Amino acid sequence: MDEFDAIVVGAGMGGNAAAYRLAEKGASVLLVDRGKPIGSKNLSGGVIWGHELDKLLGSDWYKEAPVERPVTRKGVNMLTEDSEFSIGFERESWRSPPYKGWIVLRAKTDPWFASKVEEAGGMVVEGVNVESLAWEDGQVVGVEQAGETIRSNAVIIADGANSRLSIDMGLREDTGDQIPPHAGALGIKQIIDLGEDRINERFNIDNGAGVAHEYVCGWTEGEVMAGGFLYTNKDTISLGIVIKIDSLWNQEKVSHRIMEEFRTHPSIAKYIEGGKLAEYGAHLIPEGGLDYVPRRYGPGWCMVGDAAGFCFSNGMVIQGMNYAVGSGVRAAETVLEAKQAGDFSAKKMSSYKRALQNSYIWKDFERFSDMEEVVWNPRFHKTYPQLVEGIFTEMFTQDETPKEKTRDVVKEQMKRLGISPFTIGKDAFTAGKNL
Ligand SMILES: Cc1cc2nc3c(=O)[nH]c(=O)nc-3n(C[C@H](O)[C@H](O)[C@H](O)COP(=O)(O)OP(=O)(O)OC[C@H]3O[C@@H](n4cnc5c(N)ncnc54)[C@H](O)[C@@H]3O)c2cc1C
Repeated sequence: MDEFDAIVVGAGMGGNAAAYRLAEKGASVLLVDRGKPIGSKNLSGGVIWGHELDKLLGSDWYKEAPVERPVTRKGVNMLTEDSEFSIGFERESWRSPPYKGWIVLRAKTDPWFASKVEEAGGMVVEGVNVESLAWEDGQVVGVEQAGETIRSNAVIIADGANSRLSIDMGLREDTGDQIPPHAGALGIKQIIDLGEDRINERFNIDNGAGVAHEYVCGWTEGEVMAGGFLYTNKDTISLGIVIKIDSLWNQEKVSHRIMEEFRTHPSIAKYIEGGKLAEYGAHLIPEGGLDYVPRRYGPGWCMVGDAAGFCFSNGMVIQGMNYAVGSGVRAAETVLEAKQAGDFSAKKMSSYKRALQNSYIWKDFERFSDMEEVVWNPRFHKTYPQLVEGIFTEMFTQDETPKEKTRDVVKEQMKRLGISPFTIGKDAFTAGKNL
């Protein structure tokens, strides 16, 4: 007899959501994570955008969860070495329900979420590094760990961006054993202890408000392309960068240096001055979209969250946690249907794909499949920040020379940077089409 209806590998947002839905519907579920404590291996910016948690846990979940602050102000900023061009958006109603985004720290939210799984009747075991799936006659029948097989009717794979289990199954054929460089980004994050009062004073907010800034890091050397983020927690700041992996090729040790340049940039340094570095970490981000893995289900298994490639960035937000929860819940529902039918075959598990295709998750990834062209267009990272810097510097500087018309300033700056109106028009069209 199988020991569990389902084993969920990984207690991040996706795995916790899947295990919770299974447990609350009465299935026997084992949730395992290599982290001890749970959450210790996990890293996000992190703003949870979207409402999957409302649907799963009830719209009051944030009252009990260890959330930091609601996002009430959003900023998108272009940085060059010594300039900043910003667009800000603030909404008073974002400080009350229904909240749009919650700033969270995963080291706090993930163990809390796992405790909800336990409350719902699931078994949670931390510090277990699953080595592989267990197979019998072409069907997944559990997981292998330390030479032992733990049996289940189904396994939900929620082991994150560099999913060892999907690599073992040969689902990342193009690069063998790693995240394909063109389909991933490297996230580096620091948590800076600043204190609640200093945060409120420097960002001109109170305890019921939070700030989420994204940055284009337009000063980086050579081919390197990076974006940055700064989020206000209760009494710390989450500060980080996201670098396109293939733009890092042959650039030794550059990632740490970019983080340092970002942290000490005048637009950032003023916010964090006097703060103490409390944590430092790095994590991969899958950006390959629907092409990331060829299959997300099979006989006795489903794959969710980052492992399945459901993470997305458009330069204004990074979104992965909501998709992880959404795909986790849909995988759990597929397993529940399979349990009811007593059939865990690939055909039965394929209803997971249909559930995804009928949801906003698949539609988002289809709609934004060409987003890469915009987000990782070198001109958006290098040329346009310099163009904006040049234009505004000319327009706002008064010296003894006669003033030029804005049109002529723009033309001159385009000539200086060697960019034509046609290229700008083409990029604007592509951005308009894809954003
Ligand atoms: C720097 C950075 C900033 C980000 N910012 C945001 C943001 O602001 N908003 C947002 O929505 N998303 C953001 N993301 C993306 C988001 O963090 C992910 O999309 C999300 O965490 C995916 O959830 P998951 O459950 O699929 O995977 P994860 O959260 O990575 O969880 C995977 C879990 O599996 C466990 N595990 C792995 N292998 C094994 C194994 N063999 N055995 C047992 N356990 C295992 C790990 O310990 C981990 O707990 C960011 C990511 C990074 C790196």
